[in-house]
Amino acid sequence: MQKQVKSKGKIMTETLIETVLRNKKINIDQAFFDEWMGESLVFAHEIGIPDDAIINFEKEWHGGACPICEKEYKKIKAGNKSADENFKYAYEYYQPDCDCESKEEREYQQRSEVYKKLRIAGVPKLYLNVDWNNWDYRVSPETNESFKRIYDLFVNQKCYEKDASGIIMYGDVGTGKTRTSVCVLREILTVTKFTAAFLQTGGIISKMVDREQGNKYVHELESYDVILFDDMDKMFISNEWIKERIFVLIDQMVSNQKIIIGTTNFRDVSQFADKFGDNIMSRIVNACYFEHFMGNDYRMETKSY
Ligand SMILES: [Zn+2]
Repeated sequence: MQKQVKSKGKIMTETLIETVLRNKKINIDQAFFDEWMGESLVFAHEIGIPDDAIINFEKEWHGGACPICEKEYKKIKAGNKSADENFKYAYEYYQPDCDCESKEEREYQQRSEVYKKLRIAGVPKLYLNVDWNNWDYRVSPETNESFKRIYDLFVNQKCYEKDASGIIMYGDVGTGKTRTSVCVLREILTVTKFTAAFLQTGGIISKMVDREQGNKYVHELESYDVILFDDMDKMFISNEWIKERIFVLIDQMVSNQKIIIGTTNFRDVSQFADKFGDNIMSRIVNACYFEHFMGNDYRMETKSY
C-alpha cells in the first residue's frame, strides 16, 4: 500500500490559531508565528513525522507549489479578529490552492477499501496490489493484446453492468490470466458495491463432497454477486454429485445475472466444453466473454512469481 500523504502543517497552523483564540490575551504577530512554526518543525522532526508531511508543513509556512498540479500555494493573511488594528492581519501563511491533496486522500481511501474487499473475497496476498497499472508489457505482444481487450471490455465498456457479462480467460500456464482476473475483480469492486469471492477451485471440490455440506456451500456461494474461479479446469472431476453441484451453482449465477470470472489452463474452448459438458458450457457461453491468452510465461519473464 502506498503511504498516506497528509499535511501536518495545516493541522499545526490551525492548532496555533485555536490556541490563541481560546486565550485571547495573546496576539499573534509574524515573529510569534514564525517562532511557533519553527519550534513545531523541530518537534515534527523529533517525533518522526514523514518527510513529505514536513515538506508540506514548510510550504504552509513559507509558500511553495503543489507537487501534483504545480499550482502555487495561496497566501493567507491571518490575524486576531478581536484585536486592535495593529494585530488584525498580523501574519501570513500559505495554503494549497487546489484540491489535489484531498483528491489523493480520497483515492487512497478508495484503494484501501477495495484492498479490504479483495482480502475478504479471499484473493491471495500475492495478488492484492495487482491492478491495471502494473502489467508488464515486455512479456509478449499476444498477452498484451488479451490484456488490452479485457481492459476495454471492463473499464471502457463496463460490460458487467450492461449485460452482467463475465469472462473466461483460457490458455497456457503463466500468461498472466490470474493477474488479469484480479484486475477485473478489482475494477468491479471499485465501481460497484458488489460482494465477491475468489475461489481456488481445487479447494471448493473438497467442500462439495459431503452432500449436506455441499448443498449448504453452493447456497452460500450463490449469494455472491461475483465469483472468480481460479484454475477452473481443476473444477472438472468425474464425480457426478460434484458436477451436479457445479452445474447448480453456475446455473443459479447465470439466471440471477451474477458475474463469473474464470481462469483455466485449457488451450481451447472445445476442451472446456468437453470437460464441463454441454449444460454448463451453454450457460457459461451465454454469460461470459472468452479470451485466449497466448505467449510467453509471464511468471518467468517478469521473475516476480
Ligand atoms: Zn494541486
